Amino acid sequence: MTTRYDSHFLDGRLCPAHASESLDVIDPATEETFGSVVDGDAADVDAAVRSATSAGAAWAATDPAERAELLRALADGFDKRAEEISQLVTRQNGSPISIARAMQSQVPLNYRYFAGLAETTPRESMITTATGDAIVRREPVGVVAAITPWNGPQPLIAWKIGPALAAGCTAVVKPSPETSLDAFLLAEIATEVGIPAGVLNIVTGGRGTGAALVEHPLVRKVAFTGSTAAGKAIATACALSLKRVTLELGGKSAAILLDDADLTAFAPFVASACTPNTGQTCRALTRVLAPRARYEETIEAIVAAVRALPLGDPTDPTTFYGPLVTAQQRDRVESYLALGKQEGARVVLGGGRPAGFERGYYVEPTVFADVTNDMRIAREEIFGPVISVLPYDTVDDAVSVANDSDYGLGGGVFSPDRERATDIARRIETGTVGVNTASFPMEAPFGGIKNSGIGRELGSGSLDAYTELKTIFRAG
Ligand code: NAD
Repeated sequence: MTTRYDSHFLDGRLCPAHASESLDVIDPATEETFGSVVDGDAADVDAAVRSATSAGAAWAATDPAERAELLRALADGFDKRAEEISQLVTRQNGSPISIARAMQSQVPLNYRYFAGLAETTPRESMITTATGDAIVRREPVGVVAAITPWNGPQPLIAWKIGPALAAGCTAVVKPSPETSLDAFLLAEIATEVGIPAGVLNIVTGGRGTGAALVEHPLVRKVAFTGSTAAGKAIATACALSLKRVTLELGGKSAAILLDDADLTAFAPFVASACTPNTGQTCRALTRVLAPRARYEETIEAIVAAVRALPLGDPTDPTTFYGPLVTAQQRDRVESYLALGKQEGARVVLGGGRPAGFERGYYVEPTVFADVTNDMRIAREEIFGPVISVLPYDTVDDAVSVANDSDYGLGGGVFSPDRERATDIARRIETGTVGVNTASFPMEAPFGGIKNSGIGRELGSGSLDAYTELKTIFRAG
């Protein structure tokens, strides 16, 4: 079945687009086109932003408890359609269905969490001074542009519009062109549960649509997840118009295996933490740092663990590695496989296309050994199922290699000695670092430093990025 949208979602309904160009949606496992969306132009963006602007004052004036109730209703709507959305995401981006389901299961939890924050985040606080007092008010920033990538479409939208709507902002979402069909299911759910018209708007399209949204003078804040290159372009545009901006960008995170790590227990875990979603995860631990004395043993354990993870049809619940999202992404990953070999890294697993997959954008899960941290495969985000294993001599060396990166998004330290691992985690320069785990809680802030971005999402301060503080100071 082919699904074609020639509309955007604004003013609470599907409105015919101004732009006539469309973008195909392609199933990466079969290479079949099964949908299309409009490549929105500046007029489409303007209509969406004006819809959000018109709805702004009334939404900002609602009681936070009412906003919380609507966010909980949105969560309930997602619960009901979780399987349908997961299947659609897998068809669009090739995520293994087990991953799509796991990501989707987080979405209602996210909306409920932000609903709670709408109720508990204080709207006003009072400061008493020697000369009088001051009321510090939290006010919504206004229209938020939420621009998202294809690898985790609904959670990454939820991380933005959840706190935005909770804070009293209205929003225009610009999903990735690869995963725009599921955004229309969000629109359906929002309409069904009674989110007022104009509070949530969706405009589809590619880079130009995103750029027009960022540049729109009525947009007051941009929340972006995507590549570092796009993030820098967006930051530049926001600087020129002094818009608030949050950037969640790429990563090249390190997993440090300590010398006392039990490889039998950790290798299967590390392998899956290194390449979740076929390696298309921003915080994947793609540089594994292993003690030199245990280097070959670690490589063997990781290779055995990766080899045991099934590659195939992403709709099969047992599949761990599916296709990459697009032909372009596969070409990019293949160029890094060639580069790693040229740079002198040793291919210990994979390194090419898997046999028997003539259709679909598949590459083999690949493990490179003898990688040094100056190689491009150790420095650049590949965004595919490619692990580099680097030896280290002392813990200080491991920390310095982990920190010698242009990125700083994730990280991991693995040891049965939790406190020893935690001390080392404290020394890693990154926004998030796990000790014997790769899953992070939504109750804690998430984001990166250096080329991995600016600002944080999730956590109890989530509404801060969507509120302005206004001080009313009064004579005593
Ligand atoms: P991308 O940067 O190409 O696109 C992301 C979104 O931005 C898309 O909607 C795209 O249309 C839009 N866009 C692109 N250029 C733009 C511009 N100049 N102005 C406005 N909008 C623009 O990224 P992608 O290929 O879709 O996603 C993969 C990247 O996302 C990886 O680098 C990955 O690390 C990153 N990512 C980061 C996180 C995180 O939380 N830090 C999470 C997931 C993905």
